[in-house]
Amino acid sequence: GPTTAQLRQREDTFGARNYAPLPVVFTRGEGVWLWDVEGRRYLDMMSAYSAVSFGHSHPRLVRALTEQASRLALTSRAYSNDRLPLMLERLSALLGYDRALPVNTGLEAVETAIKAARKWAYKLKGVADGQAEIIVCANNFHGRSTTIVGFSSEAQYRDGFGPFAPGFCSIPYGDAAALEAAITPNTTAFLFEPIQGEGGIVIPPAGWLARCAEVCRQHNVLLIADEVQTGLGRTGRLLACEHEGVRPDGVILGKALGGGLLPVSAFLANDALMQVFRPGDHGSTFGGNPLAAAVADEALRLLADERLAERAARLGATFLARLQAIESPLIREVRGRGLLIGMELDTRRVNARTAAEWLLARGLMTKDTHDSVLRFAPPLIVGEPELEWAAEVIEDALADLAT
Ligand code: PMP
Repeated sequence: GPTTAQLRQREDTFGARNYAPLPVVFTRGEGVWLWDVEGRRYLDMMSAYSAVSFGHSHPRLVRALTEQASRLALTSRAYSNDRLPLMLERLSALLGYDRALPVNTGLEAVETAIKAARKWAYKLKGVADGQAEIIVCANNFHGRSTTIVGFSSEAQYRDGFGPFAPGFCSIPYGDAAALEAAITPNTTAFLFEPIQGEGGIVIPPAGWLARCAEVCRQHNVLLIADEVQTGLGRTGRLLACEHEGVRPDGVILGKALGGGLLPVSAFLANDALMQVFRPGDHGSTFGGNPLAAAVADEALRLLADERLAERAARLGATFLARLQAIESPLIREVRGRGLLIGMELDTRRVNARTAAEWLLARGLMTKDTHDSVLRFAPPLIVGEPELEWAAEVIEDALADLAT
């Protein structure tokens, strides 16, 4: 077959240059392992930003996918299919929300939440038409639509893509007093990530979320959690908000919901909020298709059957402690919850991109963020020996980089 160089050159010639991938071309995955076209093996420590929580090509998910693909893949929502009801019911049973609105990608589910919140504000809260305001956090990541990048604090996500939609206001992350101060009678929702993933695995102070929930309740403001990256077991609980005993009014899921096989996302809410949607208001051709529903349903079953949230909590705690024990002048901090871990490096000494390249050369696939943070988020099925091996590789690479 073609070599890495040939494939890279073709991608660079015929593809838009909206990514700058590391110099490896993958061709196969199984469990926590990936193979490149040269036959080299890598431990997947990023899981496609938490989407591959069940590992690559999990036999149960592959079976669900292929069986459903050979039976019925798509009808559109103009007609019902026999798989979606089962997935919706399981989602409700597992997470305790009355209803879910299925779409495809994370950003679509965020857009769905924004629409739900605005309509709720006009129909039920009494906000004047067009005046709804949503509070978001600095350093957020909620996707790449023009509306969503419009309230990003990352210049690169915004530059050249305006004009942007009004109706968003940003406050510092982890600051409940700032939330309270920002609320006006038009404030409709507070949209937040329980842990900021793309922002560099930023963990808010203990008590912050519980206080935000209280403030929102007092002011009749919807609390909407973007759990696209943190949800479905990643942080050691089904939802990361559970760590603070908080039940948001709306929850956004994506990534792992599709079992790492196809894009599946959803907005979850109780009747009080979800009732705002009427037939024809909102939808998408592929949202809730039988193929997506069959795979998501099996992914949710796997999550429960294999107790993957508990597994993430247990293995994540050990791995975090192991990484925190590494003595290196390059490390500023190691933080995380469950199997969502960030290692902040001293950028005066090493760039996270350089560190990621070194790790890749040693068979460890990670993700660098903002020059300073290395992210570790392996599939939740990862074993203890593999994590110990990863820790050794990281330790060795940092030692080499320090000299
Ligand atoms: N929300 C969060 C918290 C995310 O981490 C991401 C993706 N990194 C998204 C939304 C967007 O998801 P997608 O790329 O599927 O649109």
